[in-house]
Amino acid sequence: MNNRLYGNLIFELSHEGRRGYSLPRNKFSQYEVPAELRRKEDAQLPECDELTVVRHYTNLSQNNFGVDSGFYPLGSCTMKYNPKINEEMAALPEFQNLHPLQPSTTTEGAQAAIVMLEKMLCALTGLAHFTFKPYAGAHGELTGLMVIDNYHRSRQDMQRKKVIVPDSAHGTNPASAAVCGLEILEVKSGADGLVDLEDLRRLCSECGDCIAAMMMTNPNTLGLFERQIPEIAKLIHGCGGLMYYDGANLNPMLGACRPGDMGFDVMHINLHKTFSTPHGGGGPGSGPVGVREGLQQFFPKVSPYHGNFAVMLRALAYILTLGRDHVKEVGPLATLNANYIKESLKDVYELPIDGLCCHEFVFDGLKEKSTGVTTMDVAKRLLDYGYHAPTIYFPLLFHESLMVEPTENESLETLDGFISVMRRIAEEAKMDPDVVKSAPHNTPIGRVDDVLAAKHPIVTYKQLLNDKD
Ligand SMILES: *Cc1c(COP(=O)(O)O)cnc(C)c1O
Repeated sequence: MNNRLYGNLIFELSHEGRRGYSLPRNKFSQYEVPAELRRKEDAQLPECDELTVVRHYTNLSQNNFGVDSGFYPLGSCTMKYNPKINEEMAALPEFQNLHPLQPSTTTEGAQAAIVMLEKMLCALTGLAHFTFKPYAGAHGELTGLMVIDNYHRSRQDMQRKKVIVPDSAHGTNPASAAVCGLEILEVKSGADGLVDLEDLRRLCSECGDCIAAMMMTNPNTLGLFERQIPEIAKLIHGCGGLMYYDGANLNPMLGACRPGDMGFDVMHINLHKTFSTPHGGGGPGSGPVGVREGLQQFFPKVSPYHGNFAVMLRALAYILTLGRDHVKEVGPLATLNANYIKESLKDVYELPIDGLCCHEFVFDGLKEKSTGVTTMDVAKRLLDYGYHAPTIYFPLLFHESLMVEPTENESLETLDGFISVMRRIAEEAKMDPDVVKSAPHNTPIGRVDDVLAAKHPIVTYKQLLNDKD
């Protein structure tokens, strides 16, 4: 990596009068741009030769980290390999050049692709209908809750405004409920990390006729399979509520079991997670919402046209590539990989809930606490060894959460490499804790002040100039 150039902005590489490209002579000089539309001063643009520009951006791009550059075990995010054939399919000009307002007789292929994907998702989930309008998982949650709200209103059941959410839930669950104008009731997890049925019974008996829905993900955020869903569904349905399934963790269930068969009425799928689209940094995503028969008339209109069509095409290409038989291997392999890492590290990292996990698991920091080395330090030190950090300080059930999700794609050698580095960091934490506490050392930027970076981000060149004044 060329660190010499790193840290320079393209503006700092500028030299007055330097040219990388010469524009053809202006053929439109006879046309005058109206005075009120003209700049008062010249635009402040960098002046660089072409090779400097190419090196600058190539070096910048190499400071990026992605699934294609290294192991990316970010828990809860399902950072699986994105097969390149997906990109080719989504980029076919026959798809890419479509306009949503074209006469529908000219878009029959695209419509067939959507219907085909819907049928596949129905088969994989056990639900009857999907809408593809939502742009992401959280958008799907909101859409699904709107379906539930519309359903209760249609029956004049106006007081159902409470949504039960487990304390281990992803933060988007209570947030979506709040955006939908619903109130959150938190149900506790037991010592085994699963929903505490006693606590749920209490909530149901205290506010049964106010319950709109229960939101759950399975396997839950700790990577544990919630074995009591049929009983939970019976309780919730018994008091008139509906069951919502957060499908972000569908990966380990693929081909093994279906939310629709477990008693869920409404769900979303994160196509970009389970069905492979490069994601992170806010998009692109697609969060189709599925419902059981009889609820499809309550789908709200949450985006124009058909949603994020290119992500849908990638998902379709991915499912077709795997085929009916191989799609069943996704869940078991993801589960095997997660358990392999967990078992290989649990003598040096604290495993608060032992036993078989699904696609991911959570450590509660290092086992040896006396060194003062935190989960944050371990995560930063991993960067020095060329790994993306796992998810840290989530879920909130533990103080030092470190959440690992390897996905099904990783080879045994990759898993072994990660395990040996994690063990090495545990050893360093004992022998030389300062090297871990001050990590990262090999990255272009050292440890940043997270709070300052979040509260006072400096993201514009102008801002930098002003600071120098
Ligand atoms: C990722 C995730 C979400 C949110 O999905 P987005 O597509 O990021 O909006 C919701 N729930 C769980 C459990 C998740 O992992």
